[in-house]
Amino acid sequence: MDTNLPASTQPRVVIIGCGFGGLRLAKALRKAPVQVVVIDRNNYHNFQPLLYQVATGALEADSIAYPIRKIFTGQKNFFYRMADVQHISPASNMVHTSVGDIRYDYLVLATGSLTNFFGLESIERNAMQIKSIPNALNLRSFIFQNFEKALLTENPAEKQALMNIVVVGGGPTGVEISGSLAEMRRHVLPKDYPELDLSAMQIFLVEAGPALLGPMSEASQQDALRYMNELGVKVLLNTSIKRFEDCRAYYSDTEFIPSENLVWAAGVNGAEVPGLPAEVVTRNKRISVNQWNRVEGFDNIFAIGDVANMVTEDMPRGMPMLAPVAQQQADHLADNLQRILRGETPVDFKYLNKGSMAIVSRNKAVVDLPKNVHFNGFFGWLTWLFVHLMTLVGFRNKVVALVDWAFSYFSSDQALRLIIRPFSRKDLKDDKGKKSAEHRTATPEYNPTPPAIQTPA
Ligand SMILES: Cc1cc2nc3c(=O)[nH]c(=O)nc-3n(C[C@H](O)[C@H](O)[C@H](O)COP(=O)(O)OP(=O)(O)OC[C@H]3O[C@@H](n4cnc5c(N)ncnc54)[C@H](O)[C@@H]3O)c2cc1C
Repeated sequence: MDTNLPASTQPRVVIIGCGFGGLRLAKALRKAPVQVVVIDRNNYHNFQPLLYQVATGALEADSIAYPIRKIFTGQKNFFYRMADVQHISPASNMVHTSVGDIRYDYLVLATGSLTNFFGLESIERNAMQIKSIPNALNLRSFIFQNFEKALLTENPAEKQALMNIVVVGGGPTGVEISGSLAEMRRHVLPKDYPELDLSAMQIFLVEAGPALLGPMSEASQQDALRYMNELGVKVLLNTSIKRFEDCRAYYSDTEFIPSENLVWAAGVNGAEVPGLPAEVVTRNKRISVNQWNRVEGFDNIFAIGDVANMVTEDMPRGMPMLAPVAQQQADHLADNLQRILRGETPVDFKYLNKGSMAIVSRNKAVVDLPKNVHFNGFFGWLTWLFVHLMTLVGFRNKVVALVDWAFSYFSSDQALRLIIRPFSRKDLKDDKGKKSAEHRTATPEYNPTPPAIQTPA
């Protein structure tokens, strides 16, 4: 198939992925003497940090996504093709996509990351993940559908498994989604399901490491644990979920948490694109790049953001997989590409860490800033709100998010609990589009030995 891209006398920069990195790079090249071609399988940019709010009914999906074509209206050197990139052929400078082949002079991989299930097959088949808007809408529907089912069963063990939620991964996503679910249990579910005994519903947050929010300061880790305890989230540290089947999330060979709902937020891998030599792909599927984001061994292939593994002296395991890294690398690469076109030597990338934050409940967050500055609580929440509002793409999205947040803050309610996307486990697909084959048949049981719950020191 022909992709019908116009011929140009200017070099063509093909960017795969219009996430935080790809979008920023394409914009930064608007005045550069190049033709910019962006390929993404979705026709929208997705603001992943707020996906959990879509999953728990706090925000509309539309307010965290923005149409790619609309973002670039008026940018003359910009072309977009909605396509799935299947592989690349560096020898012929060609990208092979679901809609045809696209030639490049310079190629930038900005494909982000995929959920890492660490080879745990039953979890990959049965758990809910939260990497995309369809994932978030599925999760919301799945949880509310299970509450509808809980009303119908007489079996107390089955009822509890339908209501229990296990979140795996104590990083920002796991903490944020657990806090949001606990708020929902407190403020929304009692109004909607007065017939259910919600004291039987348990939310577990399971983390393999010794602390929540591993990369953040110790103060933030302790604050997060305290807030989780106050919200009634049962935190299990130094605990791994190894298997999830028949409504049981196993944390040892025989011990399990009875639950129908498991949210996997335990890790990600780079979303590598086939076609590069194995030597440049790391163990967690990121692509090794030098300090100019250039893929080792290639003059005209670059990678930025989550998929790029840039190692520095102070970051020997590579830059963190965070939106600001992707955006800063994009800005830097835009300058470097223009240097290369002028025949100049590119400049090394330096990451400017502006801090990190995680929201813990409707009005509490933890914030770490450089120079060991840490704050929390309501002020932390306001900071989180401001930063996320400012970084949302599009004025309409900012306004809609602000209205939704203000509504839920003042009313302690969330309007968005429609099951508009009926979802069953057999619809579950993995990242490669493979469908889940598993149907649950076993009746859940109570766990005779409940796990030990972590409380703050
Ligand atoms: C739930 C969640 C919460 C997060 N919270 C935060 C946070 O609070 N703060 C923070 O800094 N970071 C957060 N992150 C991480 C942040 O979202 C990523 O670091 C950032 O999105 C990386 O940007 P990127 O451009 O590398 O990739 P992405 O933004 O993931 O974009 C990749 C793009 O590539 C496209 N793509 C991939 N493969 C193909 C292909 N083969 N063909 C066509 N298109 C393809 C995808 O559709 C996507 O649009 C969060 C991530 C998640 C999942």
